Amino acid sequence: MTTASHNESAVGGTAEARHRVIAIDGPAASGKSTVARRVAESLGFLYVNSGAMYRAITWQALDQGADCSDRDAVLALLESTEFTCEESDGAGVIGLNGAVAGDEVHGAEVNANVSRIAAYPEVRDRIFEVLQAFPKKADVVMEGRDIGSVVFPDTPYKFYIDASPEIREARRRAQGLEDSIADRDRQDSTRKAAPLMIADDAEVIDSSHLGVDDVVTAVRERLAAKGVDEAKSV
Ligand code: C5P
Repeated sequence: MTTASHNESAVGGTAEARHRVIAIDGPAASGKSTVARRVAESLGFLYVNSGAMYRAITWQALDQGADCSDRDAVLALLESTEFTCEESDGAGVIGLNGAVAGDEVHGAEVNANVSRIAAYPEVRDRIFEVLQAFPKKADVVMEGRDIGSVVFPDTPYKFYIDASPEIREARRRAQGLEDSIADRDRQDSTRKAAPLMIADDAEVIDSSHLGVDDVVTAVRERLAAKGVDEAKSV
């Protein structure tokens, strides 16, 4: 694999030049965000947290007093929202009507509603478009639930970071966050549109008894074996 953009066929069958995509999926609190950010920094790739985008839309809906279980209300909000791709500190983020959401997207109310919002196919379609735009500009490490299975199914670099439910619950408690991860996992795995799943060709890493450094090293070793190595300019 060369470091320049190449012509993998893009999702949807259109052959469009794009940079490399490292897909890192997994359930809530599996440690994938920290790992994805570290891998991106070490390679000099853009880091994209797709969950933060679903969270931003949820936060916006709540902020505007919309009932998240009212699909029409959420879709009306979506219609009136302009989405932009922004870059901040080496990370790709979503702008909603020119504003970028902050730490509030990790609050209890967003945690309790985000999986409901993420199950609406129309919401997924909008985020899908935003996510597809990032590797047109740069190599990316993108984390989420459906990056390797649906958003970039043709990327050769796919990881699924897992951990036992008990360990993931304990991690959230240690972070002091109110987050019913079992409930989110159930909703994310059982929805019809792009459910959480392990892509057939993903490398599965169980982080239950591994430190962050160990997981980052495991990912970097597997990437190096596929020719993706130290930070190089593209
Ligand atoms: O990754 P994080 O836990 O912040 O994601 C928040 C929520 O966003 C998930 O529980 C899921 O409902 C949704 N999500 C998704 N698809 C993605 C990323 C996140 O449905 N690719």
